[in-house]
Amino acid sequence: MRITDLNSGQDIGSNCLLVQIAGLHFLVDAGMHPKREGYPALPDLRNLPPLDYIILTHCHLDHLGSLPVVLRKQPRVPVLCSPASAIVARRILRNSVGVMMRRRDEAGVREYPLFTYGELDAVESALHALPLQAPRVLRAHDGSEVSITLYPSGHVAGAVGVLLEHRHRKVFFTGDVLFHDQETVPGARFPDFPVDTLVTETTHGATPPREDVTRASETERLLASINVTITHGGSVLVPAFAFGRMQEMLTLLNKARQRGALAQCPIFCSGLGVDLCDYLDMMSRKSGGTVNFRRAVLSDLKAQPLDRRFTPPGQDVAEKGIYILSSGMLVENTPAWRVAANLLDHAHNTIAFVGYCDPDTPGGRLLARRRGDSFIFHGLDHVAKIRASVENYYFSGHAARNELVDFARRCDPRAIVITHGDPEARQWFEEEFAIELPHAKVTNPEPGVEYTV
Ligand SMILES: [Zn+2]
Ligand SMILES: [Zn+2]
Repeated sequence: MRITDLNSGQDIGSNCLLVQIAGLHFLVDAGMHPKREGYPALPDLRNLPPLDYIILTHCHLDHLGSLPVVLRKQPRVPVLCSPASAIVARRILRNSVGVMMRRRDEAGVREYPLFTYGELDAVESALHALPLQAPRVLRAHDGSEVSITLYPSGHVAGAVGVLLEHRHRKVFFTGDVLFHDQETVPGARFPDFPVDTLVTETTHGATPPREDVTRASETERLLASINVTITHGGSVLVPAFAFGRMQEMLTLLNKARQRGALAQCPIFCSGLGVDLCDYLDMMSRKSGGTVNFRRAVLSDLKAQPLDRRFTPPGQDVAEKGIYILSSGMLVENTPAWRVAANLLDHAHNTIAFVGYCDPDTPGGRLLARRRGDSFIFHGLDHVAKIRASVENYYFSGHAARNELVDFARRCDPRAIVITHGDPEARQWFEEEFAIELPHAKVTNPEPGVEYTV
C-alpha cells in the first residue's frame, strides 16, 4: 500500500489521505482546516490522480469540508460512507457555505465560498451508504478484489473506522475514535483481529489521561453546577457544538429531569444544533442502533427557541434559565456569544463549556481568564468584568492516548501510520509505539510525501 498525507501540515487540520492499493486510488476524507481561511484551508489537491473511490469517515468539517471541491474536479467518484453520514453530510456542508459567505463579508476572504449551495446536489448524488460491518467487494484494475468494511468508531453520529483488505493483507484506519459510550452514540466497535497496517488518530497524544474523570462524573458535576446556579436565581449558558454535543446535552438534561435531578427552569435552544436534532432523529431510525437520539427530547424538555430581542450587553438576561446554544467555542456574532455578554458580569450566572476550546477562540480566551479580569466582547462595544462562574467540563469525543496504544497492541500491526494530531501528540505516540510495539515500523508522514507501508 502507498499512502500520501495531503493535509497541509502535521496537525489535526484538513484530513485527507491518498491511498493506493492494488492499483486503486482511494481518498480517505477530504477535510477543511478549522484554523485557516480561504484556499490555505484546503488539503493539497494539486496533483490528485484520477480517484476510484472516496471514503468519508464522518461529517466533521475537518474530514468532510472540502469534499465538494474534490468532486468538482472529479465528479463521478463514488463517496463511500455510513448510512448515518449519508443523511447529514449535505446539511453540514450547507451550513459551511453560509459560514464562508459570512466570513467573506466580515473578514474580506475574497475566495469564499469555496463551493456553492448549487454544488451540493453533486455531493448528494455521489454518496453511497454502506451497511456497517458488512464487507463490500470492489474490483481492482488487475481483476483482484479489494474489500472495504466500515466499523462504528463512536466519536460522533455516523463515524466509522475503515478496513481495507487485499489478498489477505489488512489495513485499518481508526478515523476519529471514542471507545466509551456517549449519551447519543455508543462507543467504537472495532475489529478484534490482527491487521498489517494501522492508520491511527493521535488527538490526545499530548494529554495525560485523567483516570478520575469519566463522562458519568462530569455529568454529575455539570448537573450540580446547573442546579446550584438555578436555585440561586442565576442562568446557565452551555455553549455546545451543533453536531452531536448539543443533542448529547439535551438528552442528558432530559434524563436528569425525568429522574428529578434537574432544577425546574425554562430551557432555551438555538442555532444549527436545533435543526440537526431532526437529522439525528432520522439517523437513529436508520442506522441500526449506532445513534440514539429522539427529537422528542425538545418537547419533553419544553425547550423554547431563543427570543432574539436581547437585552443590552452587560445587562442580565430577561428570562432566567438554561441556554444551550450552538457554537461550542463561543464564536463571535453567534447567539451564544450574545448571551455570554449578558451573563458574564453577574456573579449568580454560570458559563459551562462542554467541549474542547481552541486557545485562539473567544471560548479559549475566556477560559484562560480569572474571575475579576475584564473580557472584551468585540463587535458589541462591551468590556465585561468576569463575575460569573466560568467552568470547563470534559466531554471529549476522542479516545485517551493509552486506549489507542492498547488498541494498537491488539492489532499487532507491522506498520503504523500516525495522523490527526498536533506535533507534540504525534511525538508522544512515536515514542510510545517504539516501546510498546518495537517491531512495528512507525511513520509520521510529511505532507505530500508518498510512503510505502
Ligand atoms: Zn471528528
Ligand atoms: Zn477530526
